[in-house]
Amino acid sequence: MNQPPNQQPNQQPNQQPNQQPNQPLAYDLIIVGSGPAGLVASIYASRYRMSNLVIGKQKGGTIGLAHKVENWPGEVSISGLDLMIKIENQVQNLETEIIYDPVESIKKENGIFTLITDGEKKYQAKALILATGTERRKLQIPGEEEFLGKGVSFCTTCDAPFFRDKTVVLIGGGDAACSGAVRTAEYAKKVYLVYRKDELRAEPIWVNQIVKNPKIEVIYNTSVTEIKGDQVVEEVFLDNPYRGSKKLATDGVFIEIGGVPGNELAILAGVEIDESGYLKVNKEMKTSVKGIFAAGDTTDFLPHFQQMISAASMGAVAASSAYQYLKHESAPAQRGT
Ligand code: NDP
Repeated sequence: MNQPPNQQPNQQPNQQPNQQPNQPLAYDLIIVGSGPAGLVASIYASRYRMSNLVIGKQKGGTIGLAHKVENWPGEVSISGLDLMIKIENQVQNLETEIIYDPVESIKKENGIFTLITDGEKKYQAKALILATGTERRKLQIPGEEEFLGKGVSFCTTCDAPFFRDKTVVLIGGGDAACSGAVRTAEYAKKVYLVYRKDELRAEPIWVNQIVKNPKIEVIYNTSVTEIKGDQVVEEVFLDNPYRGSKKLATDGVFIEIGGVPGNELAILAGVEIDESGYLKVNKEMKTSVKGIFAAGDTTDFLPHFQQMISAASMGAVAASSAYQYLKHESAPAQRGT
């Protein structure tokens, strides 16, 4: 393994390098994203003895918001955040630092990537793994922005407890919507799950719980077209009448309609994306830019199976490919570039 630009010769490869005055911190590998793909990439990178840094936006990534994870081996049932904290501990136990300071720019010069964060910190690496996940998709209907925090929420895990004994409309038909409906029904007196098609597409285990829950009513073949209220949400408008009316009175609206790939940095770095915005990768998780690898929900590898376990395995593969790249293909590091 080559030494990263300002790593000391006796330093353990996965330890934070000493910073020279006016020089950015430099690593073999920087992983952007602190969800399962990014953290597992870091665990493997550390075991390959690559100095690495994880830069995240929010603790735990999107899975950190999941109220229950019941399909991760070794954990019968655990909250997303607790599970991610356990994985973070494993990363830190390998002496890798995780920082939360969104990356704003990426530049490549002489084979070295320079990243600048929102906090105006500069970091360098010879290879990158982009594990930037997805961002929540918006409905783009009137009232969605206006009532955000005033009855509209994108996170059942965070906000369901505020709707104790209230009526709630939840929009979507995938795993997040269905698991979210089950969670919200633990508090609310009534949950209307409004779905635009005629058959929920979530895992049967969630659909089964919905069907059995007397508090949850599914309104099929229907879309919400507007959210209305005075100071807070009071009603939604539907494109199809439900029980004779296109208006449905509600205290809250949860929007759980999936995500769009977080691709801004990839675009800045010149990485090729597909028509849906996912980062194109090959089976080794290589992107179109030499030295940049990608993993997890942001890639086009398994866009219809965005599971924690598949994101984690992509992270492991990306780290292994980054290791091979640093060993065989990376340009010699140039101090101060
Ligand atoms: P998905 O993309 O799986 O589902 C999004 C849902 O929202 C779909 O039912 C879709 O409808 C609907 N939708 C999308 N756009 C609109 C719109 N403009 N108006 C109305 N409805 C819309 O996203 P999820 O967030 O549910 O899940 C993301 C990934 O995370 C998935 O891979 C999922 O399996 C995983 N996950 C797993 C969980 C688990 O417990 N195992 C829990 C949560 C997420 P349509 O069906 O018509 O396309």
